[in-house]
Amino acid sequence: MDKPGRIVKVDLTQSSIMSLAYSPVWSSAYLAGRGINIRLLLEHTEPDTEPLDPENVLILSCGLLTGTAAPASSRLHLSAASPLTGLLGSSSIGGHFGAHLRRHGIQALMICGKSPRPVVLRIGANGVRLEPAHDLWGRDTVETYRALRSAQGRSDVEVLCIGPAGERAVPMACIMSGPDHAAGRTGLGAVMGSKNLKAVVVDPPPGPPRYSSAAKETAARYVRRIRQSAEYSTFSTHGSVAYVGWCHERRLLATRNFRENSFPAAQAFDPQHLSGLTTRRKTCYRCPVHCKAELRLPGASEPLARPEFETAIALGPKCSLGDPQQVVLLHNLCSRLGLDAISAGTAIAFAMDLFERGILTAQDTDGLDLRWGDPAVMERLIEDMAQARGLGALLGQGVHRAAQSIGRGAERYAPHVHGLEMPAYHPGGSMATALGYLVSTRGADFTSVYATPEYRWSPEEAAREVGTPLAVNPLQPEGKPALVARSMMVSAVMDALGLCKVPALSLAGGFDLKCEAELVRHLTGLALEADDLLDIGKRILDLEQLANVGRGLDPTKDTLPEMVRHRPAPDGMRADLKDILERMRLEFFQFMGWTPQGIPRRMALPEPSPWLSRWTRRQKGWRNS
Ligand code: SF4
Repeated sequence: MDKPGRIVKVDLTQSSIMSLAYSPVWSSAYLAGRGINIRLLLEHTEPDTEPLDPENVLILSCGLLTGTAAPASSRLHLSAASPLTGLLGSSSIGGHFGAHLRRHGIQALMICGKSPRPVVLRIGANGVRLEPAHDLWGRDTVETYRALRSAQGRSDVEVLCIGPAGERAVPMACIMSGPDHAAGRTGLGAVMGSKNLKAVVVDPPPGPPRYSSAAKETAARYVRRIRQSAEYSTFSTHGSVAYVGWCHERRLLATRNFRENSFPAAQAFDPQHLSGLTTRRKTCYRCPVHCKAELRLPGASEPLARPEFETAIALGPKCSLGDPQQVVLLHNLCSRLGLDAISAGTAIAFAMDLFERGILTAQDTDGLDLRWGDPAVMERLIEDMAQARGLGALLGQGVHRAAQSIGRGAERYAPHVHGLEMPAYHPGGSMATALGYLVSTRGADFTSVYATPEYRWSPEEAAREVGTPLAVNPLQPEGKPALVARSMMVSAVMDALGLCKVPALSLAGGFDLKCEAELVRHLTGLALEADDLLDIGKRILDLEQLANVGRGLDPTKDTLPEMVRHRPAPDGMRADLKDILERMRLEFFQFMGWTPQGIPRRMALPEPSPWLSRWTRRQKGWRNS
């Protein structure tokens, strides 16, 4: 049985490292990953902790199943107070780093303080130690990754690192693991940079894990379920970028800063096109999907990573760029510089929109002509965002802060909720997406909501699960609050288990959590059923909502940007979004058992929790039972 590893606490100010035991209560109350992260963050930070202050704590946790025999159990969850939103920062990363960490007996790293000089945190058979990183500071993420691997003389060392954007604490900076994997959202690369932590390196684990035959059989059943999905071959051969055309056909594709919901040039993203350039397929720990790939573009000196659905849309249709090869180049540039490509592409689209409307002029852009779809302009803005210079310095703050600085009505066109840039789906064509953007605990987001049952369930399933067959009609609000509440709880469970959502939810489609509960029982020995997992998902969301409200969020105030709510709707979208959103949000709060103000009412925590009172004392309606 795989028991949780220990927690390693690193104080960079003191250069001290200590280990803490993982309480057995935590596994059944929070699982691990995203669940333990919010638990630890509430205990070890204050509601007024500034994201870039040394007191902020960056927590990196393996899910309860990360690094076990469970298929696609690759995920590591990262949390801290977010420099982009000021609220909860939360992001997940795949690859092999999490599995390596877990196999070294470490469940979570808690990193606080600030090193006086740049350092690397190194984890191996000889323990955990800090090493100087002067020679790495200033290098991009690919250079850093290669330098750290070649210093060890082996290619199976795993690396998490920041690039120039993180070093400059740009609020949309990400953390990369190799060229393919990013903890992109909510600016956690800036937190790492503010601590002078350039990288975390994990040596290969000591030996291959051994599993019981029951565990192997449970895992094999899960793999069969993934492979039987009708979508398996598309994801496996072409990756998620293959769904850009699908998104266009369903009129859900965020185009030209959300002005439109379809992009005629989307056909250029046809799977065959990029697949012809694929030189190698890649995968994460124990994943049968292999959705990652290396591409070789004509004239390029080295292989590049294939973008995913979200990043391709952020740098393509949102900016009206229809050349997929240019999108590949820009995606890889963001990764090298350590910028979240979703936020970066969305910020560029926002700037191009303002430029066309005359809200930004050549005076504001140093003479740069922000034409839609110009890859040279985009390249320049990405570099400027990462280096925090010129207009890029403003855009790198995120569209919310940039709009406030620009004024002149710019806020109307800023696509964000709670300061996080809206991702690829146009919310006007999917009420589950619109509600998810509004109520996600990390700001406008799809991945932590994953409301795919809206188009995956049959009407009969929808009637059975959320009481109305209308829940599968994307333009109808009926059933959406229940559907989004369910999918957010399931999503929180996946992040706490460390399972990738593509195989688990897009392919195996396990929104009932039965297979995942079976994996937990066989691999960890915890006697948890699907309903127990759902309760844990709800607990995680309750705590995350408390953290956000404690940090100053009024959950009833923020809404989708005015340009989405108020303008004449293109085909396939609702025009009356404003009233619908408020109705759905209130109903969602009811489903969650929260007050009409969006505050959790009561919570049964299975341990003494004196730290909770710091977060709840200003909240009406709160009662810890
Ligand atoms: S589906 Fe893709 S991202 Fe997810 S674990 Fe597999 S290879 Fe990694």
